[in-house]
Amino acid sequence: MSNPQGTGFYWDERCFWHAGGNYAMTMPLGGHVQPLAAGGLPENPETKRRLRNLMEVSGITGDLRMQGAPAASREDLLRIHPQDYLDKFKAMSDAGGGELGLRTPFAQGGYEIAALSAGLAKQALTDVLRGDVRNAYALSRPPGHHCLPDWPNGFCLMANIAIAIEAARAEGLAGRIAVVDWDVHHGNGTEAIYYDRDDVLTISMHQERNYPLDTGDFEARGEGPGLGCNINIPLPPGTGHTGYLEVMERIVLPALRSYRPDAIVVACGFDAGIFDPIARMLCTAETFGVMTGQLMQVADELCEGRLLLVHEGGYSEVYVPFCGHRVLEVLSGSDHVVPDPMASTVAIRQPNARFDAFLSEQITEMAEALSLSAETLG
Ligand code: ZN
Repeated sequence: MSNPQGTGFYWDERCFWHAGGNYAMTMPLGGHVQPLAAGGLPENPETKRRLRNLMEVSGITGDLRMQGAPAASREDLLRIHPQDYLDKFKAMSDAGGGELGLRTPFAQGGYEIAALSAGLAKQALTDVLRGDVRNAYALSRPPGHHCLPDWPNGFCLMANIAIAIEAARAEGLAGRIAVVDWDVHHGNGTEAIYYDRDDVLTISMHQERNYPLDTGDFEARGEGPGLGCNINIPLPPGTGHTGYLEVMERIVLPALRSYRPDAIVVACGFDAGIFDPIARMLCTAETFGVMTGQLMQVADELCEGRLLLVHEGGYSEVYVPFCGHRVLEVLSGSDHVVPDPMASTVAIRQPNARFDAFLSEQITEMAEALSLSAETLG
C-alpha cells in the first residue's frame, strides 16, 4: 500500500434501495412503451451493487477503509437547497413517493436515502481534508451532479458534491476546491451552483448535447468573480481512450495546475464507458484507471494527494463494476487486481487515427482558447 492513511470507501446498503420509476430506459410507461421485466430507469441499483459485490469477491475490500456515514443534516442540505424544495421532497417521500423535476422518481423514504447519499460524499470529503484518509471513493446513490438547488433532474435528487463542499467549508476545512466531472453528461448542477464563484473550479468533460440538451457549451466560462472558473469540454460521440487522455493532459491537468486547489473532487461517472446504453463514448476500464492515476499525481503535486471520487452515472451493469474496480485499484495501490475481461475487444474497437487527429484539433482549439483566459482563473 503506497498510501499511509489508506483509501476510504464510503457506502451504505440503503443507497441501493433507492427505487423509482415507471420508466423503460428514460421513456415513461404507457401507450406503446411496455414495462421492462427488471428495472426502470437506467439509474438502478444493479451497476452499483455489482461493483460492491466484485470488490468483495476480489478481496480489495481488505485494502480499503470500508465505512458508512451519517446522513447529511437539514442544515447541510439547506446550504444548497431551498427549504420549500426540501419540504416538498420530504412530504412526497413520506406519503409514499412520487416525482419532482425531470426523471427523478423516488419511493417512500427516498428523501432519507438521498440525504444519506449526500452524507457519504460529505463524510468522505471531510475525512480527506482532515487527513484521516489519504484519498477516498464515495459510492453515493442517488447521484447528484445534475441537481439544481430547486430542480432535481437527470436521476439526481440532491447536489451531493456541492453539499459536501459547503459542509466542509462550514467546518473551516475547505479553501479552494476543484471538481473534475468525467461523467459522460454535463455537470449542469455543479456548474450552476458555482457559476459565479471563484472558490470552486468546475470542469466538465462530456458528450456534447447528450444531457442536458441546452447546457455544457465550451463558451460557458462562469460569470462575475467566477469568470474563468468554469470549464466545459464538449466532445463528439465516439471519443475513446486516446481522446479522453489527451483532454486530461492538455486541458484538465493544466487547468488544475493553474488553479492550485486544496483538494480535487471527481464527479465519477462510468457512462463514458464503451458499453453504456445511454451514451456513445468508447472509454475502457483502463481509461478510468489512467485518469485516476493522472489526478493522483497532480493531487500529490498540488494538494498533498487530497483526492475524492464521488460516484455519479454509469449504466452498463456488466462493465461498470470493472471500471470502478480499476479506479479503486489505482486509488489504493491494492494488488487485488481484477483484469478487464473485455480488454482485448474494447481495445480493438477504439477510434482510428484519423478520428483521433480530428479530435486532437478540437482539443487544441479549446486548450488555446482557455490559455488566453488562464489569467482570469481565480
Ligand atoms: Zn451521466
